Amino acid sequence: MQQSVETRSTIDDAVAHEQRVYESSNPTSGRKFEAAKEVLPGGNTRGSLFFGPFPLFFSSARSSKVIDADGHEYSDFGNDLTAALFGHSNEAILSALKAGLDNRMSYGGTHDHEVAYAREICHRFRSIERVRFLTSGTEANLAAIQLPKAETERRLVLGFFGGYHGNTLNWLEPESEMNVDRADVRLARFNHIETVEQIVRKEGKDIAAILVEPIMGSAGGFMADTTFLSRLRSICDETGALLIFDEVQTARFAVGGYQSVIGVYPDLTTLGKFFGGGLNFGALCGPARHMDRLGPGHERMLSHGGTFSNNVLTMIAGHAALKKVFVQENVDRLNARSNELRSALQRQANSRGVPLQLGSFGSLISTHFQADLPQGSEDVKIPLIFRKLFQLFLINNGIFITRRGQLTVSMANTEDEFSALENAFGIFLGQYGDLTDDFD
Ligand code: PMP
Repeated sequence: MQQSVETRSTIDDAVAHEQRVYESSNPTSGRKFEAAKEVLPGGNTRGSLFFGPFPLFFSSARSSKVIDADGHEYSDFGNDLTAALFGHSNEAILSALKAGLDNRMSYGGTHDHEVAYAREICHRFRSIERVRFLTSGTEANLAAIQLPKAETERRLVLGFFGGYHGNTLNWLEPESEMNVDRADVRLARFNHIETVEQIVRKEGKDIAAILVEPIMGSAGGFMADTTFLSRLRSICDETGALLIFDEVQTARFAVGGYQSVIGVYPDLTTLGKFFGGGLNFGALCGPARHMDRLGPGHERMLSHGGTFSNNVLTMIAGHAALKKVFVQENVDRLNARSNELRSALQRQANSRGVPLQLGSFGSLISTHFQADLPQGSEDVKIPLIFRKLFQLFLINNGIFITRRGQLTVSMANTEDEFSALENAFGIFLGQYGDLTDDFD
């Protein structure tokens, strides 16, 4: 671990320096990565976790700490790209799981845990009367766009440039051949309602659904104007399309989801990540009038299965997480503490004259080292290499974040870790803040 105060002359020199420190501190992760390439494409299973020159290999995680293969302990501000909202191996969830493991690895049948868990979700969300459990956020969004197509007998889905709804609905890379339904997707600009209206004027009668993250997560934590989301709501009401909120990330902001914070309610909601209490999870949710179409007994039933959709351990972990950990008091405390962190980071940047805009909301803090707050991916000016510098610097100083540059705060992060992060952030600004001049 290092903390040099020397100023580097160019971004390339700075990155080269941090990378040398990183490589020499992490020889075991480097070797494991080379070996992984023999059996995993590019040595990787989950693209969003990959970063060069090689990712850290983790060997254990507990509460707010992750330990890597070279024995370094990190304060975790990556938190599994938002899935580890409760930190790692939360005691309440773990003890529910341990009890469950005794005789319930899998039933291969219907069970009480799925009903209890669904009941709790319905109780919390005003817009939800039925839950269809699935195994990932991707799967939830895939189902979420098929249901309105069947309901409306239309074929188009309207989404947004920069939206990320899973590995086959990745509108950060709209042209990617991994994406499904490319011919039937129309993309507008996030926060630019006129681009939505333009598409609706032309093809409104064919649009089955509008799919939107109420705060764009993977793209960089862009907040939607509430008026923008309200207008999407009324466009759907006027045209008969269904409004889908992808709350896979944003549900963390309140027990009734971010929709309850802004008071704009969708027809369908998708959930994922932390809702599984640390296990694989996805859910498509909404009112009975739409959702019951997925159920046996419906005269025009949309047949839809999934071997692990009601996995008993996921249902137990998720239900325990909601009942015991994801309660309003804990959510409020997390948002408030994260907002203090947000202000402290901003103050540091302001006092040093380094441009910094912090995006997203509450416990998700996206860092944009630029003068204007981006409203969508097209407004981001800082190049990827600066994110690389920021990430490698923090890792070299004992703080883990992903390459995305987002500080993801969990309920397990401690006061000492907040102080350590603020301190490291100050050193980073002092050492490398001037480099942002090159990007304005
Ligand atoms: N929607 C959003 C908003 C997401 O952030 C993600 C994952 N990053 C997904 C959907 C996909 O979820 P999963 O990775 O579980 O398929």
